[in-house]
Amino acid sequence: MGNIEVFAQSQYFFTTLLALGILFFASIYATAGQDKLFVPLWLLFIGLVLDFGAGGAAYGSVSAYTEGKSIEGYVFLELLLSLSAMVFLAQSSLRFMVNGVLLNWIVVVLGILGVLAVSLFIFIIPNGDVVNQMRQIFPMAGFACLTAGFWSQSNNEFKSGSIFAATFTSFIVLVCICKYCNFFTESLANLWYLSALFYILLSLAVIMMKVDALNQTLGKSAKEIDKYNQKIEEIIRLSPFPIIISRVGDDRIILANNNAIKLFGINPREIERYRLKDFFADSDNRQLLTERLENEREVQDFEVLVKTPLSDTPFWLLASVNIIDYNYDVALYSAFQDITSRKNRETLLKNQAIRDPLTALYNRRYFEDEVNKRILEAKAQGQPYTVLMLDADHFKKVNDTYGHKVGDKVLIELATTAERALRDNDIVARYGGEEFVVFLPGIHAEQGKVVADRLRESLSKQVVYSDAKEPVTFSVSIGVSSSDISDNIDTLIKTADEALYKAKQNGRNRVEVFKKEDMEGFMASGQAEHKDESQNHHPVFDKENNEEISLLDGVETVQISNEDTQIEEPSNQKESK
Ligand code: GH3
Ligand code: MG
Ligand code: MG
Repeated sequence: MGNIEVFAQSQYFFTTLLALGILFFASIYATAGQDKLFVPLWLLFIGLVLDFGAGGAAYGSVSAYTEGKSIEGYVFLELLLSLSAMVFLAQSSLRFMVNGVLLNWIVVVLGILGVLAVSLFIFIIPNGDVVNQMRQIFPMAGFACLTAGFWSQSNNEFKSGSIFAATFTSFIVLVCICKYCNFFTESLANLWYLSALFYILLSLAVIMMKVDALNQTLGKSAKEIDKYNQKIEEIIRLSPFPIIISRVGDDRIILANNNAIKLFGINPREIERYRLKDFFADSDNRQLLTERLENEREVQDFEVLVKTPLSDTPFWLLASVNIIDYNYDVALYSAFQDITSRKNRETLLKNQAIRDPLTALYNRRYFEDEVNKRILEAKAQGQPYTVLMLDADHFKKVNDTYGHKVGDKVLIELATTAERALRDNDIVARYGGEEFVVFLPGIHAEQGKVVADRLRESLSKQVVYSDAKEPVTFSVSIGVSSSDISDNIDTLIKTADEALYKAKQNGRNRVEVFKKEDMEGFMASGQAEHKDESQNHHPVFDKENNEEISLLDGVETVQISNEDTQIEEPSNQKESK
């Protein structure tokens, strides 16, 4: 373009310079972080600056001419700048188009040949016509290359910016051609603003290219995310474990593999209808998981109790849960493993350790451990508590009359009735044989006696049937001790047992309370010590014979002679201890 008119007036010059400045900043913005745009746009900018300089040199030659000075130097400089501008513009367009190394070198070689030609026609065989031709051809060629470069991108990465730039660069080339062919000479006489306009439009175009590039990057990321999601889906589908992906926002299930669909009874056509929380059988369990996820973002081997529309009873799963990005959502990735059988085994083992197999009540060991803890709590809170010791009356007779199986039935009935009759936080345990213990928190001995009486009465109304369908009734005697007597579990049991012994003596099917005043006699009779050294030798058990019993939880079976089997008289019992 080498716009000579720009240098004629200072306002033209500064306006154009300002436009070039704008292009400079637009180029900085457009090339920041855009590797593909960096080289072509800066080559373009340098080319335009050189072209601008060529205009200056041309103006210099006109001034020198009017002053009658030699213009050779100016013309040489102008053509040199113009030629370099052409090389840079061509390089820029090549970078836009193909970035071919060979083509770049061809342009450089052409540039060198151009310099030789310019030197030849200015200094060696000066030819004004050829020089004038070159003054017009160089910029025309440079802009023509640029136009080609922009058009080549019109279907590519920087689409809209390139089309825009290609359009007005084509116009510039057209103007150059018209000037070269001397068309519209008058109209094209003073187009000083053409450069400024070109720079401004180009600024817009490069910004558009940047936006194109950003869109392109976004499009690529979207594609990558899609690919990533597809990969996740594939992995999930093939996993041997049930896997569910649910949105964190609304807890809805987004994806479930076949194993999960089967396990949770999900209708695959309505996956989004389900929420993850629908499958949690225990809300506290879920709450705990949520809290851990909030703190750790990843929870491994978390045991969850699960319910599904397919199963009536909840079952245990081992879950590993992660927070992931999925389909532009924050999601939970939950993988499960069925551990129902392991859990059942654990529960079974635990129950075996703490429960009596015949009645399913707690055993003595568990009772003592648990009551020890409860006593500490009660003491800390200043709360009273009561202990009951129950023993079935004339139980041997039941066994002897109806058989051991019926005896077992009676024990089971006794256990069930006692559990039903008592509160949830009372503890009932089978202490051994046909003997039971109860811990009643929060009540004194008097209230304990009322509870014991009510229990005794309701037990006396229970009936079980023998194989011959004969009704079998039974009764119990109960001894009561309480926090008024001791805070030691052994002493409590022994004193309750002492009261039980009294109940037996006083005719059975009755309740007796161990009172503070009984303590002195109890201590004097050496019961405490005696019982300490023979914890497992209970006053009532001690006279048991060892007819095979179904109790498996550590009850000692002592071989006792047959004459003890018909014990009817309470007075005998004391001696047998
Ligand atoms: P008392 O009123 O003095 O308590 O008389 P009792 O017959 O109940 O007294 P004793 O303690 O001598 O008898 C307890 C009997 O309980 C003896 C034993 O065979 C029986 N027994 C203990 N454990 C079981 C059991 O698990 N099943 C059955 N069927 N009987 C049991
Ligand atoms: Mg008994
Ligand atoms: Mg007994």
